[in-house]
Amino acid sequence: MRGTPKLLFPSALVIQARFDERLQRQHRAVDAQARYRETARSCPTCQCPANHLSWIYFRSPARTWVEGCGTGGWLTMCDACDAHVDYFVEEVSEQGTPEPIKLQQAFTAS
Ligand SMILES: [Zn+2]
Repeated sequence: MRGTPKLLFPSALVIQARFDERLQRQHRAVDAQARYRETARSCPTCQCPANHLSWIYFRSPARTWVEGCGTGGWLTMCDACDAHVDYFVEEVSEQGTPEPIKLQQAFTAS
C-alpha cells in the first residue's frame, strides 16, 4: 500500500520540463544541490537523501509567463515514490511581463 504521492505540479508539466534537454542543459543540478544543500529534504516516504533524488529544473508553460503567473526553479523528485519533495523557486514573472524576473539568491555557491 502506498499513500497518495505529493505532487507540487501537474505530472505532465514536470515530464515536459524534465525532457526539455535545452532547459535542463541551461541549469546545472550540481550547482543547485550545493546551493540548497542545507534546506533540501530527503523523501518523506522512503527517506532517500536529497542528493539522491532527481533534480529537475522546472519552468511553467509560456502562457503562464504572459499571464504573470510564471514560475521556474528546482524541483526535487523521488522517482521510486513518484513524489515531488521540494521546490526551490528561482524565477517568477511580473504581471504583463513575459520575461522572467530573477529572484535574489539567498546565498550563492562559490
Ligand atoms: Zn521516496
